[in-house]
Amino acid sequence: MSAAEILDPRFAPLVIGHALLERLWTGGRWVEGPAYLAAGRYLVWSDIPNDRVMRWDETDGSVSVFRSPCNNENGHAVDRQGRLLSCEHRGRCVSRTEHDGSRTVLAAAIDGRRLNSPNDVATGPDGAVWFTDPTYGIDSDYEGDAAPSELGACHVYRIDPATGAAQAMVTDMLRPNGLAFSADGAWLYVSETGATHDPARMPEIRAYPLLPGAAGVGPGRRFATCDAGFFDGLRCDAAGNVWTSAGDGVRCHAPDGALIGRIPVPEMVSNLCFGGPKRNRLFITAHTSLYAIYVNTRGA
Ligand code: MG
Repeated sequence: MSAAEILDPRFAPLVIGHALLERLWTGGRWVEGPAYLAAGRYLVWSDIPNDRVMRWDETDGSVSVFRSPCNNENGHAVDRQGRLLSCEHRGRCVSRTEHDGSRTVLAAAIDGRRLNSPNDVATGPDGAVWFTDPTYGIDSDYEGDAAPSELGACHVYRIDPATGAAQAMVTDMLRPNGLAFSADGAWLYVSETGATHDPARMPEIRAYPLLPGAAGVGPGRRFATCDAGFFDGLRCDAAGNVWTSAGDGVRCHAPDGALIGRIPVPEMVSNLCFGGPKRNRLFITAHTSLYAIYVNTRGA
């Protein structure tokens, strides 16, 4: 029996009929932000309330603490040079772990006002670092330090590779959360979890056409809506499909936005990423646990 539910024939070639969902680890409070580091063959992810980043070693399956305390890190990504990018709730910044292990803060404030609590990060087609900045890390002391928002708004920012300055690119969302770029560099996808603060706000993924360099994005549109909890973290595959977290598991949407398949997961999914030497293994963070499943596609 397949672990995947095929809702549209387009999903069938993307999954492996006899591949099972595996639970690789459990014991977190709320886990998020998986990122696969190919050079070291390991995966890191956040256990936010426990203020630690975990590490799963692909060579022997062992799990250890990568770093703790960690400023309640949330989302992660790996840049073109193989360096780990981190969204720090308590640090209220986006930072980069250098090859020598030192930490460089990439963005912490806009015009002298501190960021809210960067949530998720991705690199754009030109290598620029983009991140979302909702308030979840300052709304309470559970996942950071409770504090008022200095910016009074939650945007998606791009850090200019030349100047290092962060500039707001998406300003029409209430709580932008996960983000990902399509493999062809044409689209930025951002999940909206604003229903946590305004029940009238539909959980959705919005799609923004990417403009060259610092020009940012064009007007966004609704790409998909979620009828089971929220979309949080998401990733694109090489063929343009969008794989996303949802309250009932992992969902896959075709480039036209249609829901084409689902992988049920026994816990609420927060985030996912493609990894492994072939980038054909989907790693899934869900509430207290880390899961994985092999698929028949590759990450963008
Ligand atoms: Mg998130």
